[in-house]
Amino acid sequence: MIRTFRRIVLVPMLLILGITLIVPQLVRAQAKLSVHWEELTASDFREGIHRSQGTCLLPFGILEKHGPHLPLGTDLLDVRYAALHAAEQEYAVVFPEYYFGQIAEARHEPGTVAYSRNLQLALLQETTDEMARNGCKKVLIVNGHGGNNSLLPFFAQSQLDKPHDYVVYVFDERTPQTGGPARKTKIDMHAGESETSKIMISRPDLVHMDRAASESGADQARQKIPEDVYTGIWWYTRFPFHYSGDGSVANKELGEYQMKWWIDSVVNTIRQVKADDVSLKLQNEFYEKSKHPLDTQP
Ligand SMILES: [Zn+2]
Repeated sequence: MIRTFRRIVLVPMLLILGITLIVPQLVRAQAKLSVHWEELTASDFREGIHRSQGTCLLPFGILEKHGPHLPLGTDLLDVRYAALHAAEQEYAVVFPEYYFGQIAEARHEPGTVAYSRNLQLALLQETTDEMARNGCKKVLIVNGHGGNNSLLPFFAQSQLDKPHDYVVYVFDERTPQTGGPARKTKIDMHAGESETSKIMISRPDLVHMDRAASESGADQARQKIPEDVYTGIWWYTRFPFHYSGDGSVANKELGEYQMKWWIDSVVNTIRQVKADDVSLKLQNEFYEKSKHPLDTQP
C-alpha cells in the first residue's frame, strides 16, 4: 500500500514540485538580459555582472564639429553602435552615454563641449571606480574619439598610482587599415570617407550628404616644424574646420565593412579581456611591492 502510494502519488508529486522549483530558475538564468546598464533592474543588473564575468564596457564619445555634414555626436553615436552590437554577441554590461573627453582643440566651433583637464580625469576615475564598486572588475573603455588617444593611455597608466581592485583596459581602434572596398581618398581622419561611411550605417538619418562638399577638408599644412615634434595646436594648424578628408565620397558598402570590422574587433577584445587572468593578479603584486621598493629583488 505504502509502496503503491509512493509510486503513484508521491513520485509524480515530487517531480512536479522539482520542476516547479527548478524551471523558473533555468528560465531566469537563460532569459535575455539587456546589455544597457540603465535598462536593467537592480536584480537583473546582478545577473548581468555575473553573466559578463565582471566585464563592463565604457564606450567613450565626444561632442564636436564633424565637418559640415555630420552630427556633433558622431563619435558617441558610432562608438555606442559598435559597443552595443558587440556586447549583444559577447555579453557585457554597457555603461550609459559618456562624452567627457579631451576636445580642447575644437573650442572655437559651435556645439563643442570641452571639460577641463582636471574634471576629465576626476570624472573618469570616479566613473570607473563606481563601475568597479558595482562589480565591473574589468572595465573596457572603447574609445570612439581620436582626441582621446593621449588621455586614455595616461588614465590607464595612472591607475598604478594607488591600489585599485579592478583593471582598466583601453581599446582604441575604429578603422581597419587594410581590406574591404578600396578607399578613394588619402586624407581620411575626421568626418571624411571612413567616418561618414560608418555613420551611414549607425545613423543614416543624421547624414547631410548634400553638404559634404560645402567646406574643405584639405590639409592646410601650416606648421613648419619637424614631424616628430609635438604641439597641442597641431590639429588646428592642419584642419582648422574640423574636417579632414572628403565625406562626399562615402558609401554604405564601405560603412558596412568598417562597422562590421569594428564590432568584430570589440567582440574579440571582450573575449580576450574576459579570459585575462594575469593583469589583476600582477597589478595586485605590483601594488604590494610598491609599498616597500627597497625589498624588490631583481
Ligand atoms: Zn569623429
